[in-house]
Amino acid sequence: MPPSTFVRDLMADLRAKNPAEPEFHQAVQEVVESLELVLERRPEYRTARVIERMVEPERVVMFRVPWQDDQGRTHVHRGFRIEMNSAIGPYKGGLRFHPSVNLGILKFLAFEQVLKNSLTTLPMGGAKGGSDFDPKGKSDNEVMRFCQSFMTELSRHIGPDTDVPAGDIGVGGREIGFLFGQYKRLRNEFTGVLTGKGLNWGGSLIRPEATGYGAVYFAQEMLATRNKSLKGKTCLVSGSGNVAQYTVEKLLQLGGKPVTMSDSDGYIYDEAGLTAEKLTFVMELKNVRRGRIREYADKYTGAVYTAVDPRRETHPLWDHKADCAFPSATQNEINAGDAANLLRNGVYCVSEGANMPTVLDGVRLFLDAKILYAPGKASNAGGVATSGLEMTQNSMRMSWTREEVDDRLHRIMKEIHRNCRDTAEAFGTPGNYVNGANIAGFLKVADAMMDQGLV
Ligand code: NAP
Repeated sequence: MPPSTFVRDLMADLRAKNPAEPEFHQAVQEVVESLELVLERRPEYRTARVIERMVEPERVVMFRVPWQDDQGRTHVHRGFRIEMNSAIGPYKGGLRFHPSVNLGILKFLAFEQVLKNSLTTLPMGGAKGGSDFDPKGKSDNEVMRFCQSFMTELSRHIGPDTDVPAGDIGVGGREIGFLFGQYKRLRNEFTGVLTGKGLNWGGSLIRPEATGYGAVYFAQEMLATRNKSLKGKTCLVSGSGNVAQYTVEKLLQLGGKPVTMSDSDGYIYDEAGLTAEKLTFVMELKNVRRGRIREYADKYTGAVYTAVDPRRETHPLWDHKADCAFPSATQNEINAGDAANLLRNGVYCVSEGANMPTVLDGVRLFLDAKILYAPGKASNAGGVATSGLEMTQNSMRMSWTREEVDDRLHRIMKEIHRNCRDTAEAFGTPGNYVNGANIAGFLKVADAMMDQGLV
């Protein structure tokens, strides 16, 4: 269906006001195409210009982050926090440290975060932040100095009832520790201002695992609608960071057979499948030694490593026979050619661990083929949901057991799946999880915005 005048005008205005932000345009385009179905039934949202308000961040903070390396040289990076929407709760969303970070990428992530957080069933608004700093190749001391400088400014804008950041690409347990330490020193208060904290200083069990586990739970729910399970299914996983590692772990627990992992240099294909022991090797390689995935193929002779040129037309990882795919690296890692390759290779279930890993044309191919396709804002919501559970435990000054948090995560993922499925059906597009996620996420936020007046 061609886009309506409303969508065309909205997108033209968005592009004019936010030039050179293609990822932000892409994220909004995907959502507003779904929302046309809502506006037909609920014209009051149009009159109140709810969508126009939702695409405009409530606040953008951009700041200088100077720091010194181990040789005493000075570097200057740019820090950001996009506080997108606080209609249903305090701002919440990760921090990304990666050289590609810019305003447009963080706005796309913050916009998606608003809808994702709404889907979690928990009271959290949406935000995202980060810096173009690259922690790769830096010493622990350099990362600490950078984090302290970054938090010195960020601390003015966040707080346990205002805005609660978490990790994302390049921001794991080490970075959250340095950021939290500096916040505590500056404010002289020990509060739940960040999530993803260490276990003995306010963190939650299962938070590191949550995004990957959640993406697999979501796939499990989708497969169940076709009377299938993950048992014996060959799975393609991209990335080798936090989300990819715990996706592989949960797949193994449920009898799946993950055969690939990657980083920005290339990927490994292990026809025999990863095992718990091989995953332990990857975790040590990536989280402790901070090495490259190619070392996997040196260690396990049956595995093949392929270097990947970032300018290649398609990514060979998506060109293997498989049942399921779990893109868990970064945005737009599946282009239209990759999506076509996945379908040709028999993949019928795609559960996105990364945010917006599939380009719009790829999404359309998945939807046209009527495979089980879950957009990241639904399938990777387990991470932020468990951050929400960490906030709850911090407020109660209690810690739940591993089983209790995992059980809550599992129930939340089932509920998100049910909500997306029912909403897609109620709006006349059964099986379309993109419409389901966009519409269900939107309705809760939009109604809260209508209730709260023009703010
Ligand atoms: P991470 O631990 O930093 O790992 C990122 C992985 O993706 C690494 O293997 C990295 O390889 C690879 N990667 C990053 N940028 C890439 C690029 N431009 N091209 C190719 N590979 C690239 O990050 P993460 O937390 O797993 O996040 C992965 C994705 O999940 C992101 O889209 C993130 O927004 C999303 N997500 C994360 C969470 C969470 O709780 N962490 C929650 C929801 C969604 P290199 O080491 O070579 O860079």
